[in-house]
Amino acid sequence: MIVLKFGGTSVGSAQRIRSVAHLIAAVDGRKIITLSAMSGTTDTLVHIASKIREGKWLEAEELVTTLQTRYHNVIDELFEEEALRLEVKAVLAPVFEQLLSQTHNEAFTQNDEKFILSRGEIMSTSLMAFTLRRYEGVEAVHLDALSFMRINHAGEPDPAYIKEHITPLLEVDKGEDTLFLTEGYICINAFGEIDNLRRGGSDYTATLIGEATDAQEIQIWTDIDGLHNNDPRIVNVTSPVRRLHFGEAAELAHFGAKILHPACIEPARRANIPVRLLYTLDPLAPGTRISCETSKDMVKAVSAKDGISLLTLRRHLRIDGGLSMTEYISSISELLSKYNIVTDLISIMGDSYLIAVEESPEVALFCEEVSKWAEVLYQKNMTILAVVGDMGWERMGFEVRILEAVDDIPIRMISYGSSNYSLVLVVSSEDKRRAMLALSDHLFSNLNWQSPELA
Ligand code: ADP
Ligand code: ASP
Ligand code: MG
Repeated sequence: MIVLKFGGTSVGSAQRIRSVAHLIAAVDGRKIITLSAMSGTTDTLVHIASKIREGKWLEAEELVTTLQTRYHNVIDELFEEEALRLEVKAVLAPVFEQLLSQTHNEAFTQNDEKFILSRGEIMSTSLMAFTLRRYEGVEAVHLDALSFMRINHAGEPDPAYIKEHITPLLEVDKGEDTLFLTEGYICINAFGEIDNLRRGGSDYTATLIGEATDAQEIQIWTDIDGLHNNDPRIVNVTSPVRRLHFGEAAELAHFGAKILHPACIEPARRANIPVRLLYTLDPLAPGTRISCETSKDMVKAVSAKDGISLLTLRRHLRIDGGLSMTEYISSISELLSKYNIVTDLISIMGDSYLIAVEESPEVALFCEEVSKWAEVLYQKNMTILAVVGDMGWERMGFEVRILEAVDDIPIRMISYGSSNYSLVLVVSSEDKRRAMLALSDHLFSNLNWQSPELA
């Protein structure tokens, strides 16, 4: 089995849907195709939900109508036959009715919102099934993601459930070349309600399916020729990295490389299934291969994660001693978990803590409560920069070279040594771009520091 995932841009227009249909029909063997919503759709659905929440019902309605017009235009461009156009529009009509029926919902809940967000993948999957039938003569077997993709009470995927529920669905068609088609991103939660794997979650769907079906390979098809050595949205000159270790890719994903969902490497790594990042517009380009092999002793790429706050806690000095050090450490951990604070980095030095967290409304509540034990400095608008490669502590020189690159940028925190794959810096978000350019200049302008395949 091979799992192929196509992102929003890859299915973002009639023309793209047709070329993806052509591409997947040519893949030999059993395969599971998982699709994102057409580009822009989930953003529009998020927008619709926020208008409903604000009580701006007419604006929400207008957004639904505009979205429907976009889909009708795509259908008209995809299919020449009027009868087929009408049939496809009729299949999508209930989705727009459902969306419209929500636009005047006075008691709009989070569940209603998640229902709205789930509609994009349902539509793209339908459009692809019709396209495969009409142009490739292929009858895709639909796997309803809501019948096997599940998250638990903690909001994390439940691999055992996924495997147990997808396996019998694959037995239904034992053909050698069967093409299964399923929705990315969407799932059910522990209460049986529609939910999602968070933004960009179709990558996660693909790797979870790969793990559940013991696939030979997971292919993530997107709008760029692989994972680049820096963020191409920020740095002009970047180049694709040909090989990455699971650990390297996981750190890049976790620390902001948008090409991969932050958690999507874990299932592939657990099951040791190679992941390939491939370019829909140039299917023959080699892309990036992520596996347990890697090019040794090299810095491979830089990524950045915004929306970080830095908390410095200095413990109050008390004559009566107060909490013991162990009690102090465990109280802070409990408090972080009480407020559901997503913690990216922690450094403890004596009585002082430095914690990099994802910004959220709860961070202020945490700071208020922790102030009974410690003086708190709360700094917002920080960015984590991850410099990733195969650079274990026993191989010297990497740290120096990385820090030299940013010698004129104020660094608020450095983390190195807990992983063999990264050196992580925290800088003010204002300095992010300058730091990323400097890192690229310093680390990647000399080909010896890049993948040998590029040299
Ligand atoms: P998809 O819709 O296919 O899931 P995404 O937009 O989620 O695509 O991810 C691809 C985008 O990620 C690229 O177009 C690029 O702008 C961005 N990106 C950020 N960092 C990197 C990187 N290091 N390498 C490649 N792309 C990156
Ligand atoms: N459609 C979802 C999003 O835009 C999931 C994905 O694209 O992977 O976030
Ligand atoms: Mg994506």
